[in-house]
Amino acid sequence: MQQAILEPAEAQKQQTKSIAPNPRVKGGYFVTGDTPPEEIFITEEWNEEQQMIAEMVTEFCVREIQEPFFQRGRELQVTNEADREEVLALLKKAGELGLCGVSVPEAYGGMGLDFKTNTLFSKAMAGGFSFATTIGAQTSIGCLPIVYYGTQAQKEKYLPGIASGALIAAYALTEPEAGSDANSGKTTATPSADGSHYLLNGQKVWITNGGFADVFIVFAKIEDDEDLSAFIVERQFEGFSVGPEEKKMGIKGSSTVQIYFDNCIVPSENLLGARAGGFKIALNILNGGRIKAGAGGVGGAQLSLTKAVQYAIERQQFGQPIAQFGAIQYKIGDIASQAFACEAAVFRTADLIDRKEAELRAAGVSENEAKFKAIREFAIEASIVKVKGSELVCYASDETIQIHGGMGYAVETGLEMAYRDARITKIYEGTNEVNRLLSVGELTKRALKTKEVDLVGAGKKIPAFLLRQIAPFYPRTRYSDEESIVQGLKNTFLFLSGMAGRQLGKKMIDEQELVLLLSDILAEAYVAESVLLKVKKLEGRADLDQEKLAVQRQMMQLYLYEALARAKKAATEAIASFATGYRKSLYRLVVNTMLKPNDINPKQLRRNIAGFVIENKEYCF
Ligand SMILES: Cc1cc2nc3c(=O)[nH]c(=O)nc-3n(C[C@H](O)[C@H](O)[C@H](O)COP(=O)(O)OP(=O)(O)OC[C@H]3O[C@@H](n4cnc5c(N)ncnc54)[C@H](O)[C@@H]3O)c2cc1C
Repeated sequence: MQQAILEPAEAQKQQTKSIAPNPRVKGGYFVTGDTPPEEIFITEEWNEEQQMIAEMVTEFCVREIQEPFFQRGRELQVTNEADREEVLALLKKAGELGLCGVSVPEAYGGMGLDFKTNTLFSKAMAGGFSFATTIGAQTSIGCLPIVYYGTQAQKEKYLPGIASGALIAAYALTEPEAGSDANSGKTTATPSADGSHYLLNGQKVWITNGGFADVFIVFAKIEDDEDLSAFIVERQFEGFSVGPEEKKMGIKGSSTVQIYFDNCIVPSENLLGARAGGFKIALNILNGGRIKAGAGGVGGAQLSLTKAVQYAIERQQFGQPIAQFGAIQYKIGDIASQAFACEAAVFRTADLIDRKEAELRAAGVSENEAKFKAIREFAIEASIVKVKGSELVCYASDETIQIHGGMGYAVETGLEMAYRDARITKIYEGTNEVNRLLSVGELTKRALKTKEVDLVGAGKKIPAFLLRQIAPFYPRTRYSDEESIVQGLKNTFLFLSGMAGRQLGKKMIDEQELVLLLSDILAEAYVAESVLLKVKKLEGRADLDQEKLAVQRQMMQLYLYEALARAKKAATEAIASFATGYRKSLYRLVVNTMLKPNDINPKQLRRNIAGFVIENKEYCF
C-alpha cells in the first residue's frame, strides 16, 4: 500500500519539470483577469493514487474513529487518562499507515505528497472528528516549519520520527497576551555568552498536541529584535513544562495545553531559519494551514449533509419521509451547492500553489524556498477559503441538527459533537475577522505598494461592463448570465474599494466594518468564479454522468444567485457607510446595474439538487 502511495509524488515531480510560467498563476490575479476553465484543477481529475489516499484516510476514520465512537456512545476526552491513551494509539496506527508523514519528503521517511494531495488528505480527515485537529498539527503546523525552513541536520533529526508517528509535533505561537497580534509575544530567548544555547523564558497557551508532543516549534524574541525567531524545542529540555489539559467546548479528543519555559535550555543549532525570521515562518505556515482548514470545512459539511439526508429519508412525519418536505429540501439543496462551490475554490487554490512551486523550481529556486514562496503567493485566496470553509461547516452542522429535530440534540448521534467541534474552525488558523481583514489588506498592499496586482487597470474596464449590462441585445452565450455575475462581483469589489479608497484614503483600512463587507464581496467573487470555471470544465467531459452534470450546473447557478444576493446586501451597507448625498444614489445605481441576478427559480433548483442527493442517499459530487 505504502509503495503504491509513494508513486504519485514521483510522478508529480516529473510533471512539474515541464510546467512553463503562467501570468495567471499569481495571487490576487482572479480579481483583475479571467482564467480559462481548462487551467483550473477540478476534483474529477484526481489520479488513481490520490483517490486511493483519500479512500485510505476515509477507511481509517470509519474503522478507527467513527465505529468505535458509535460503540462507545460518547466522544473521546483527553482529560480522561484511558481516552488519552486511545488518542495516542490512534496516532501510532496513523503513523504505521504512513499518515503522519504525508507532508514529510520521501528522503526523510514521509510520503512527500504535493500541496494539493495534502489538502485532499485534510478534507478526508474531516471524518476523524477531533483527531483531525491532532493529526493536522502533526502533519501541518507542527512539522512543516522544519520541512520548509529546517537545516539538513534538523530535518534528519526530527522528520523521520514525525513521519512515523514516533515523535509527536506541536506548534506554539499563541501567548496569553498575544493571540491575533502574534508578533507581540513576550517569550524571550537569551543567547548564552559562549553561543552554545539560548535560554527561553515565557509561556504559550492553547497548544494543540501539547499534552503529549515531543517536539514543539516555539516562537520567541531574541534580545531586542522586533520580530520573533523560531526554535525547535524538545519536551525533555531542562526548564520546559506543560500545564493540565484545557476543558474545552469541542474537539475534546484533541490535547490543548499551556506550556512554560523557565530558563529552558535550547541548543543554538535548534534555532529554525534566520534570527528574527520566525514571524514570517509563523505566518506562512498559517497560510498553508488555512487552505487545509478550508478543505476540512468542506469535508465536514459534506459528511454532515450525508448524515442529514440519510436521516431525512428514514424519518417519517405526517405520513411521509421528511425528505419530501420543501423545508428540508431547501436545506439539503443549499448545503450541497455551497459545499460544491467551496470545494471548487479550495482545490483550485491548492493546485495554484503546486503550479507556482513548479514554476519557481523550473526557474532554479531551491525546493524549500519554492514551497514557501508558492504558499505566500496565495495568501489572499488562503484567507478566503479558510473563512468560507469554516463558516460552511458551522452552517452545515447546525442545519444537520435541525433536520434531525430532537435526535440532533442527543449525544449518541454525534451531531452535537460535530456542531461543537466545527465552532473552533472560525477561531484558529487566524480568526475569521482577522482573515477577512487580511484578504483585503494583502490585496491592497499588492496593488498599491508592490504593484503586483493592477486593480486600477481592472477598474478602468468597469464603464464598458456597465454598458454591456444595459445593452438590450448584447450577444448571449450559454453562460453569459453567470459570467456577468462573476464579473459583476469582481467589479463591485473594484468599484467600491476604489471609491472608498478615494474618499477615505489610507484611513480606509481602519474602517473595519467597511473592509469586512468588501472582503465578503471579494470572497464571493473568488468562490463564484471557481465554481463557474469548474462547471465549464466539466462540460467538456463527455465521459461524465450527464444527469449528475445537470445537477452540478444547477448547484453552480444556485450558488451564483445566492452569492449575488449576499454581495448586494454587503455592497448596499458598504455604500451607506462611506458615501453621502448624490454619490450614495449614484454608487447604488452602479452596483445595482453591475449585480444583475441570473434568471433562475431558486426554489426549483434547490428541489432538483436535493432530489438528486436524496436519490443517491449521500453527498455524491
Ligand atoms: C482549541 C484551540 C487550539 C489552538 N491551537 C493552537 C496551536 O496549536 N498553536 C497556537 O499557537 N495557537 C493555537 N490556538 C490559538 C488560536 O490560534 C488563537 O486563539 C487565535 O489566533 C485567536 O487569538 P486569541 O484567542 O488571543 O483571540 P484575540 O486575538 O484576543 O481575539 C479576540 C477577538 O478579537 C478579534 N480581533 C483580534 N484582533 C483584531 C483586529 N486586529 N481587528 C479586528 N478584530 C480583531 C478576533 O477576531 C476575536 O474575535 C488554539 C486555540 C484553540 C481555542
